Amino acid sequence: MIGPEEVEFFYNANQDRIRKVLESLKRERSHKVDYLFSKHYLPVKSSTDCSICARCCKLLEAGLDQEDIGLLSNSCLMEPKTFIGSYVGFESSTNTSYIKNKPCPFLSGNLCAHYLSRPKACADYPGLERPDIKYRLRSVQNNAAVCPIVANTLIRIAQEIGLPLD
Ligand code: SF4
Ligand code: SF4
Repeated sequence: MIGPEEVEFFYNANQDRIRKVLESLKRERSHKVDYLFSKHYLPVKSSTDCSICARCCKLLEAGLDQEDIGLLSNSCLMEPKTFIGSYVGFESSTNTSYIKNKPCPFLSGNLCAHYLSRPKACADYPGLERPDIKYRLRSVQNNAAVCPIVANTLIRIAQEIGLPLD
């Protein structure tokens, strides 16, 4: 299994092979791609300890909707307006809000200080369980450089479809 310290090296060493795996998956039916991810994601997830990693919280900027902002600001004991001024960025081209600092300001050691009120994007990450993953393979590719769960899931899928990764 690839660990948090190895995931970037793994990605750089396998970029071309990962692209070939994803191109091959693009040619498959959506339900077959969902089947492959669900088959391999669950055992990888169950043997991964996110508390020794937290790379997603250190390297990415979590998206927020209004409900997330309400819950998080409440958990921080702040008025939403003050919370937005302190922590929220806005990308006008995509009309999206996000936690604007990296590492996330709510990361405490490797744990989320507001875990029960964390944004839906954090709870959902890395998003391999949602259906129609065939249409989100670009995001899977990007996340293979960040998240050991994604890297290890791809290693298992690549093995199954006969395009093994190193
Ligand atoms: S979801 Fe992935 S990147 Fe985030 S802590 Fe868990 S293994 Fe690390
Ligand atoms: S809100 Fe919590 S789970 Fe989300 S990025 Fe920040 S520390 Fe991580």
